[in-house]
Amino acid sequence: KFGINQALKDLGLNVDQVNKGTSTGNEWFSSGEVIESYSPVDGALIGKVKATTREDYDRTIKTAQEAFKTWRTMPSPQRGEIVRKFNDELRRLKEPLGKLVSYEMGKSYQEGLGEVQEMIDICDFAVGLSRQLHGVTMHSERPGHRMYEQYHPLGVVGVISAFNFPVAVWSWNTALAWVCGDVCVWKGSEKTPLTSVACQNIAARVFSENNLPEGISCLITGDYKVGEMLTKDERVPLISATGSIRMGKIVAQAVAARLGKSLLELGGNNAIIVTPDANIKNTVIGAVFGAVGTCGQRCTSTRRLIVHEEVYDQVKNAIVDAYQQLRIGNPLDENNHVGPLIDKDAVKNYQAALDKVVEEGGKIIVEGGVLEGEGYESGCYVKPAIAEAQNHYEIVQHETFAPVLYLMKYSGDLENALELQNGVKQGLSSAIMTNNLREAERFLSVEGSDCGIANVNIGTSGAEIGGAFGGEKETGGGRESGSDAWKIYMRRQTNTINYTTELPLAQGIKFDL
Ligand code: NAD
Repeated sequence: KFGINQALKDLGLNVDQVNKGTSTGNEWFSSGEVIESYSPVDGALIGKVKATTREDYDRTIKTAQEAFKTWRTMPSPQRGEIVRKFNDELRRLKEPLGKLVSYEMGKSYQEGLGEVQEMIDICDFAVGLSRQLHGVTMHSERPGHRMYEQYHPLGVVGVISAFNFPVAVWSWNTALAWVCGDVCVWKGSEKTPLTSVACQNIAARVFSENNLPEGISCLITGDYKVGEMLTKDERVPLISATGSIRMGKIVAQAVAARLGKSLLELGGNNAIIVTPDANIKNTVIGAVFGAVGTCGQRCTSTRRLIVHEEVYDQVKNAIVDAYQQLRIGNPLDENNHVGPLIDKDAVKNYQAALDKVVEEGGKIIVEGGVLEGEGYESGCYVKPAIAEAQNHYEIVQHETFAPVLYLMKYSGDLENALELQNGVKQGLSSAIMTNNLREAERFLSVEGSDCGIANVNIGTSGAEIGGAFGGEKETGGGRESGSDAWKIYMRRQTNTINYTTELPLAQGIKFDL
């Protein structure tokens, strides 16, 4: 069936993983409750794992702490070489892993492959980075002194990830953390446990083939209770958490209570501004892909389209037309554009959002609905919908993780559009479609978009790994992936060295004995 059995075999998985769930590498030991993974594609039970207990967790952390002692002393370019070997495996297994991502999470096969490609790209980036973990030198105010700063690894890094990018988010964190000299403990989403086991199998093989100890790559499994073991644990100096704003607020407080560091990648409420100077054809492609890609389950999915009144009808008609062309169905069939939502709870949230927008005064212009019948047996397939709505509606202010697009009109100049675009609590991704240089620059200026990502003439979703990724306001403020995002995985140290025979004090202070 879609070659999925072969894919599972290639990834070293079988349907009954039973004891898999907690791992320090080659060792697997889980004694908690059984978690079943059902595919939203066809509703089939595709695997069972066991959740991590407190005892399993403690064993994992102790092994990770021990491994850190070895890993941190290995020169960083050599750690980069291990990441390169890991990347060779990802390249070799790109197709089966992409297929499993698609089957377990429900995104299209193309997007599943794209997600594995992101893993490959971040590993390439990390390999180069392993020779560039640089600090700076500065001039000391004292004669015969040298001053510089350097970065050391932190220790055990906890990674908590969401279901919608079940493999890429892990690699964004681990590839950088590993070259930085950290060891990682990953709690993947309880909704996608098999992809986590598949990734851990790949990493474990590479570490053991290179005679490295257990504990550099660890996996724990379960729901928020297992996540809380990590967030409350003083032995874990950094928690990188990706997921909902609700989760982020709890995690931030738990980590702050012990003065740990957190890197938060939370929900978005992303808008595209369409000005009178926009290329309408590109706008439609960008907006439709942004709104329905991954069935509206990307943190960067386009939720709001803010269109100038001069082009409003034209854009609206073109988008409504495009929605009629969408093929919804099995995401492993490359003819389909839209796959299922992750589960039936997500379907309920989607339905509730459509009811709510109407209740608040919105007008549905592309009808939604849950699909039934052949091919839709899982009950997770829905029709992407569009509603004309006002920005201040409660439902519009909220991130609904489903393919619901809100269309709104602005008039006058760009300030009015920016006010709408920035007028939400989230601050992840944003875009403007315009050929007007003044508008584009204004959008990017200090008075423009307040988001972590601001694009011109491309949509809100689909970031490259080379840039730092993350958002402001309730999106959490964290940055992952490219640019200098690596710094959060390290501790910074300022060093001053006196190579004279005297001991001059800073600020010229005299202290004679
Ligand atoms: P979620 O918040 O339900 O779960 C995310 C992860 O957090 C899961 O592993 C979950 O078990 C864990 N978790 C939940 N409560 C916890 C707690 N109290 N302590 C510790 N761990 C806890 O999110 P989801 O439904 O899996 O994913 C969708 C959300 O993730 C959306 O809001 C989306 O925008 C966001 N997201 C953000 C980014 C980003 O980079 N900004 C990327 C992907 C997804």
